[in-house]
Amino acid sequence: KVRVRFAPSPTGPLHIGGVRTALFNYLFAKKHGGDFVLRIEDTDQNRYVEGAEDYIIEALNWCGIPFDEGPSTPLKTGPGKEKRFGPYRQSERKDLYSQYALELLEKGHAYFAFDTSERLDFHRKDHEAKGKTFIYNWHNRLKLDNSLSLSAEDTKSKLDSGEPYVIRFKSPQDEKLHLNDIIRGDIEIDTNVLDDKILFKSDGMPTYHLANIVDDHLMEITHVIRGEEWLPSLALHQLLYNAFGWDTPKFAHLPLIMKPTGKGKLSKRDGEKGGFPVFPLSWNESEGYREAGYFSEAVVNFLAMLGWNPGTEQELFSLEDLVQEFSLERVNKSGARFDPEKTKWYNHQWLQLKSSAELAELFSSVLAEKEISREARNDSYVEKVVGLIKERADFPSDFWELGSYFFEAPTTYAEKPVKKQWKEDTPQILHDVAKIIRNTSDFNSKNLETKIKEWISSNELSFGKVMGPLRLVIVGDLKGPHLFDILAMIGKEACLVRIENAIK
Ligand code: GLU
Repeated sequence: KVRVRFAPSPTGPLHIGGVRTALFNYLFAKKHGGDFVLRIEDTDQNRYVEGAEDYIIEALNWCGIPFDEGPSTPLKTGPGKEKRFGPYRQSERKDLYSQYALELLEKGHAYFAFDTSERLDFHRKDHEAKGKTFIYNWHNRLKLDNSLSLSAEDTKSKLDSGEPYVIRFKSPQDEKLHLNDIIRGDIEIDTNVLDDKILFKSDGMPTYHLANIVDDHLMEITHVIRGEEWLPSLALHQLLYNAFGWDTPKFAHLPLIMKPTGKGKLSKRDGEKGGFPVFPLSWNESEGYREAGYFSEAVVNFLAMLGWNPGTEQELFSLEDLVQEFSLERVNKSGARFDPEKTKWYNHQWLQLKSSAELAELFSSVLAEKEISREARNDSYVEKVVGLIKERADFPSDFWELGSYFFEAPTTYAEKPVKKQWKEDTPQILHDVAKIIRNTSDFNSKNLETKIKEWISSNELSFGKVMGPLRLVIVGDLKGPHLFDILAMIGKEACLVRIENAIK
């Protein structure tokens, strides 16, 4: 059975890149009838940020991609799952990791190292000065302070005296390692370039590498789907699986999400500079997609298209569609350029697909804030208004700007069009139009259109000479949907009042 995991470290709010990783894991799991596990990788207590875990869970739920297993009330954890695979926070699995570090020590795949950070710094600087990079591995192991350069007794006495240590992985010398990635294909690595990475620290905590491999094994993860920034760790991870003698899961490293310029990785600063969110939900000063008025469907849709392609021209996908269509083989290798304008386009598209009732509800709360009376904002009226203006809206928050005149008379008239449209004879024309409006008993859009147009042609007036000013006094500007629809919507009384106020 397919089992995948999303394994964030709770070091702050989840970036949209993280949400995309979660989404691709979710899609892959659901496509194959598998499980989507949330594991919190909180072994680095110094980087722990209060509230980050709740944020992650809330973000996944908002996107509609809940986990099947994970910390806190997992939504659908099956019976026995928690006992078999949990707990799902690494800090709660702490006691479990040391036995695996010991196993690697016993098998000769790992060793104790006592180097102080000063000494390591010294070596790093010394190498730098010579234009080289310091790699802690077989090149220099024996010159450093570790159990491979010390006698067994010295190692023991250092340990007994409580000297701080780490346990390092002993990366092999002169081997060619064959790795496979579903997206990138075969990769060959020369083990001589690998560092002896730290697996375990003397504070009793494993590092990311050890905890991650042990947990993926114990949680029976079949596919590791994660960001490209983890590709350099793949060799070590493969070596760890080999050292333990465990089956290796399949790996898929997702392409980076790039800045709008296409150069470099998208960062929080790009959002601040460009005025667009990079987080799903707001966090402190940073606005999230949810708060900016995006629909979760639009966010899921644009995230899916960042790195994946359906192989067709289709751009709009619901979550269900994505589950159907998704495959790791269709994930691109190259970085995906993030385009804030395109995210708006997706929201615009999803807004068009929403029911009028749902949109009306969103608009109604704005109308209430604007102190529009309850009668004036009755459900069916607001639904009709939304139906007329949504075509121009990217966000529900655009509705007021696009349609306030359906609820109150314009308080100002746009300057430029007034200059252009308002002629000496305009008041007289509008006065006549008001008369037609007053005398139209069956007050609907079609009737008004017929009557006013007949009057225009029988008086040999130009259409624009009448319709421009009429729109101005009703709407306040030259914008908006079909004018006769607007007249019919706001009703005879409101039309007459607006015309009279403008020409008196
Ligand atoms: N804890 C790692 C992160 O924060 C997980 C990487 C992985 O998926 O292996 O991204």
